[in-house]
Order: sequence, then C-alpha cells, then structure tokens
Amino acid sequence: MIRPGFTGCTLDRADRLRHDAEALAAAAGDWRARLLRLAALDPEVDDAGRLGWGSLADAAENAELVLLGLDDRQVPHFAAVDPDEPPVRGRSPALFRMLGLMPPEEASLYAAARSVVDWHMRHRFCAVCGYGTQAFRAGWARKCPNCAAEHFPRTDPVVIMLIEHDDRVLVGRQPGWPPERYSALAGFLEPGESIEEAVARETLEEAGVRVHGIRYVASQPWPFPSSLMIACIGRAEDDALTVDPNELEDALWVPRAGIRAALSEEPGAPFAAPPPYAIAHTLMRAWLDEA
Ligand SMILES: [Zn+2]
Repeated sequence: MIRPGFTGCTLDRADRLRHDAEALAAAAGDWRARLLRLAALDPEVDDAGRLGWGSLADAAENAELVLLGLDDRQVPHFAAVDPDEPPVRGRSPALFRMLGLMPPEEASLYAAARSVVDWHMRHRFCAVCGYGTQAFRAGWARKCPNCAAEHFPRTDPVVIMLIEHDDRVLVGRQPGWPPERYSALAGFLEPGESIEEAVARETLEEAGVRVHGIRYVASQPWPFPSSLMIACIGRAEDDALTVDPNELEDALWVPRAGIRAALSEEPGAPFAAPPPYAIAHTLMRAWLDEA
C-alpha cells in the first residue's frame, strides 16, 4: 500500500463544530483541550518524534484559535495564532531533523497545523479591500468586517513526476540541493491546466522531454507553505535531454538498480535519494514495485 508522508492524521476535523458557536466555546472550555506547541511554526518533539502539547492557557490572550480536531476520546486539539507574531520566513534546519523522526500521522497533523497557522499569519488583510480581517469558522477561514469577503486557506497544487523510458526514470537536480541529491521533476500547476497538462509542460520545459501516458499515483500535503504534491508517472517519447539551466543543474536517466540503490542508501548509488517523508521517495518506491 502506498502511504505518502504527511498523511494519516487520526484526528476528526469536526467540521460540524466550526459552524456551531456554542459547541466551539464548549470545546475551547474543555479542561482536557490541548494546544499544539509551536515556536516560529516549528513543533516541539520528543525522542520518538511525537508532537508536544500544552493547554489553552499557554496561548496569548488575544490569540485566534484553530480547532485542529477531536481525538477518539473527543478531546479538542487546537493551534493558536498570535496576532502580534510576525510571519515566519523559510524553514529551520532543525525542522528537517524533527520530520525525520516523526511518525507519519504526527507529521500529518503538524502539516495541517503549520499550513493553516502560517496562512493566518500571512493573510491578516483583506485581498479585496485591504481592511484587517478576523478568523472565523474555528480558524479555518477569515472574514472582512468591511466588505464581508470571506477568505479560505489556499492549497497550491504541484505536479511531481517520474518519467520512464526503456526501464529507466528521469531524475533532476536543482542548484542548492544537498550534495548528490536528485529527485523527481516537479512544478506548480498553472491556472487553467489539468494535472496531465502540467506534467507534460513541466517535463518539456525542464528537460526537453515530451511525455504521454501520464497516470496518477498518489498525493501528499507539503506544508512549506501549503502545497499539495500530486505524484504521477509518465512515459517519454525519447531519451534526448535538453536541460533548462534556470530550472535544473543536471538530469539523469537512472535504471531500476540505481533507483533501488539510492533508496537503500547503498554506497556507490548513482545519487542521494530524497528523504522518506517526501513523496518523490514514495514515487520511486511505487515505480520499483510496479515491475
Ligand atoms: Zn474587505
């Protein structure tokens, strides 16, 4: 079974409470309610990679609360947005070490919390009229008190694809990546495109390769800040590469044995694979398993 990273959160998102002011107040007043500990969007994790929680008393007095959901004992889980905290830029190196430890269901919960808290921090003003907005729907939207526009957290779709030719797949390397790291090609969907059209366009732009037979494999939230990675496999018409140096530093066709060696981190592998919580890793494994 394909189980991408950042998926499998076990909380009930409890949409029914988001519209029910009384139930929401009761959840926030529940003595068992837990607040996700975040410092500049980074979580606190224990040695097993499990998320750290406090109580709602830890939130700033004027904080906006996001109801993340209820666990199987109906305990409400929240995140808080401090209106006085400036937006966070980039991600800390410590975070990637933490993600390496986190069980997928914890990473999934963290991804949801991080993306929505980050969205609140960067969307405090109405995109229509510029007025300051207020959180509503239990922190899953913002509303403008001036023009009544409602704003919702965005998810940005990204296609990520393994293109195959003659039992090899195409991997590329972007400047600034860790040494030896190669991964599946990827790019943002543009307005007006289907997933298949975006896969074909990005592969042609980045590597000069025409593809067909594109098929969907799996998807994964990627909370930096709010992408949805849509993993696909496609077939190349031929293996001639014309790499766009603005997009990629290098691209390679790698046979099955090379992909297997990279995923197993064998010495002498043709490249360093992306980490297991990245869907490129999942996609490479899925391709190997198809044979
Ligand atoms: Zn407005």
